[in-house]
Amino acid sequence: MKLCSACLLGLACRYNGESVPHEKVLHLAEKEVLIPVCPEQMGGLPTPRPAVELKNGRAITIDGKDVTENFEAGARQVLEIARLYDIDTVILKQRSPSCGCGQVYDGTFSGGSVVSGNGITAKLLLENGIKVLTEEDL
Ligand code: SF4
Repeated sequence: MKLCSACLLGLACRYNGESVPHEKVLHLAEKEVLIPVCPEQMGGLPTPRPAVELKNGRAITIDGKDVTENFEAGARQVLEIARLYDIDTVILKQRSPSCGCGQVYDGTFSGGSVVSGNGITAKLLLENGIKVLTEEDL
């Protein structure tokens, strides 16, 4: 059993109200239980919602609002679910400001430029000893 970014499983939870179903993730879901989580929704943000990127460790919307508290609240809830089910591995959406692991969008909203770093949920999970994979690791 693993936790998985809900958008990769086809749930329409992204900022733009869409999903990004990933073939390998869906294939894995046929073989083992993948529990969908969306930390941004779980942190109280609506869908659709303004795009967010990380700037100096803060989650900032495209119109300049700081939503770091929502991102952190959602991250804590994902960690709680992982502990509840004794989960040691999660699969998260690469480059997202919440879920990205190893690289994230660079804070310029330029549509694809990335920098090294972890999303706020990925970071909290890693700090708590949980292995984070992305869809690109499958
Ligand atoms: S927060 Fe994570 S699960 Fe939610 S839409 Fe963004 S990448 Fe997908």
